[in-house]
Amino acid sequence: RTTDCLVFDLSVSSLLLGANPESTITAALSETLSGEMRKAGVAVGVGRYDEARLLYVSPLFGEGGSPTDERRTIHLGVDLFAPAGSSVRAPLKGRVHILANNASPQDYGPLIVLRHEAAAGETFFTLFGHLSDDTLSGVRVGQEVEAGEVIGRVGSPPSNGGWTPHVHFQIILDLLEFGRDFPGVCRGSEREFWKALCPDPNLILGIPAEKLGRPKRTPAELGASREAHLGRNLRLSYREPLNIVSGFGCYLHDQTGRAFLDMYNNVPLVGHSHPRVVGAAAAQLSVLNTNTRYLHENIIQYAERLGALLPDSLSVVFLVNSGSEANELALRMARAHTRREGVIVLENAYHGHTQTLIDVSPYKFNGPGGGGPKDFVSVAAMPDDYRGPFRRADPEAGVKYARDVARLLEERERAGRPPGAFLAETLPSVGGQIVPPPGYLSEAYAHVHAHGGVCIADEVQVGLGRLGAHFWGFEMQGVTPDIVVLGKPIGNGFPLGAVITTPDIASSFANGMEFFSTFGGNPVAAAAGLAVLDVLRDEGLPGRALEMGERLAAGLRDLMHRHVLIGDVRGAGLFLGVELVRDRATLEPAPREAGYVVNRLRDLGVLTGTDGPHENVLKLRPPLALTASDADLFLALLDQVLGEDGAVFNPRP
Ligand code: PMP
Repeated sequence: RTTDCLVFDLSVSSLLLGANPESTITAALSETLSGEMRKAGVAVGVGRYDEARLLYVSPLFGEGGSPTDERRTIHLGVDLFAPAGSSVRAPLKGRVHILANNASPQDYGPLIVLRHEAAAGETFFTLFGHLSDDTLSGVRVGQEVEAGEVIGRVGSPPSNGGWTPHVHFQIILDLLEFGRDFPGVCRGSEREFWKALCPDPNLILGIPAEKLGRPKRTPAELGASREAHLGRNLRLSYREPLNIVSGFGCYLHDQTGRAFLDMYNNVPLVGHSHPRVVGAAAAQLSVLNTNTRYLHENIIQYAERLGALLPDSLSVVFLVNSGSEANELALRMARAHTRREGVIVLENAYHGHTQTLIDVSPYKFNGPGGGGPKDFVSVAAMPDDYRGPFRRADPEAGVKYARDVARLLEERERAGRPPGAFLAETLPSVGGQIVPPPGYLSEAYAHVHAHGGVCIADEVQVGLGRLGAHFWGFEMQGVTPDIVVLGKPIGNGFPLGAVITTPDIASSFANGMEFFSTFGGNPVAAAAGLAVLDVLRDEGLPGRALEMGERLAAGLRDLMHRHVLIGDVRGAGLFLGVELVRDRATLEPAPREAGYVVNRLRDLGVLTGTDGPHENVLKLRPPLALTASDADLFLALLDQVLGEDGAVFNPRP
């Protein structure tokens, strides 16, 4: 009785299945579904019509060598899960039209198609898939069956196509030329056509609508509601925005089950939905999540482990919830220690979204809607050795850029207001994926120290193994900061930020005013942070970042020979920038072409973005789980897009 059934969510965003593909392997899926049915005390489970799923992994559902190609994902029938051997009855009077065994893995296995007479002499069909082997000898083609008559039994793996025992039930208005191979699953892009041909089987089954749940909102509906309810300046990526509903490893999935190779997001450092991070955070959340005013093993262990990864002088850890909070706290510490308000930052830098951080982020205060620099801020030249005044060929470029920091220090000192802090990303990201020339930070830090300031390294984007050969960005420059700021990747998506400093600065900061963040360093965040450190070590991810980074960089440099649009390829490990220019001599930026490339790659299933003051630097910061075939796929698709008309500079478009 379908009124007593349990309806499962087997969709791309299923919370029952999670994003880990292992949950969809038949044995695991069978256990999950039968467990749910047992708990609910029902004999029949239901899988929904018109549902996009990631269950269809065999080549039957999409040939193509590329995981980003569109596959068949949309379910055109209803699944009725019941123990193997259960009777399957014809819901309507009809005649056996097809009796076959489609034995390929993930195909129908033994199947029956009944032909029914509708009013006015029209016919339609019902399909029953994944039946038992003995069903094949129980009926014959041409046999008439009455409504309610047993026509077969529920099969079991492997002979039912290898699925969890169930019947796939589908209404088909016209078999076209497909016969026994009529698709039970279609592509997202062809959904409306196939749904018109295969109406909702619930017309016959009568499963109560409230059990089936509300239909999912379309991207257009979500977009409209977002516009009405969220702030207008929270922008969406891409001309055609994405509705991303699940992610695993280096891939994200949209609501239709289309896979996108994520070359952009640096937060899921060890991969989207990494089972160990998910498991650690979920398990801790089920036991305790509270503030840090109690002794707890997790926060202590995390501070110990993080401290052990940093130079000895950096031994005092403060935990917060975001990169912004961490930078804000670092500035407070620097000011408490030096008793000076002034801050030196780099051109086009971004450090966070709070008021103070907007005030020290030229990317914001000099950008649209910005109010210009506050008087406590000095902006030093970006050490950009591709586009700036001192270029890569000059071995002194680093030292020369650092002189601008010295100039600002002296200028402010003469005015009686020496800056307290030099706040810079070790490899500026928003500034254009810049790798400062050698010697830059050691010289700049030396100038700052000579003038009594402290050096804050914003490692929110690059720290924790992304750079491959160096675990931290500051190691690349051979310096030790006074304060290190961490965020984005350290919780792999669970909100977590950290400030690590010297005992000396920490003791200046402990001036009587209490430091407390309600959520900072909570047991769940610390559990996630610890799991990230475990995975980085156990999966050797910094080594992979090095290897895959070199593979990508070599491939990108190779593309430079064929595509004049690429002016520069730079970076370290899996933190890379590809600067697009209209002219390699004048370095005229190519922002329109960069926008074209990013949007076309999105269409082809690869996510990237642009950055830099001219919005012409392709920003690559994939999860460190990137594989060689992912890297090669990206290079092949970028090669394709760069060869298209839109990526070629046209002075009169
Ligand atoms: N510092 C840098 C270098 C960043 O890139 C960002 C975020 N893009 C932040 C700080 C702020 O981090 P959050 O958004 O977590 O507050």
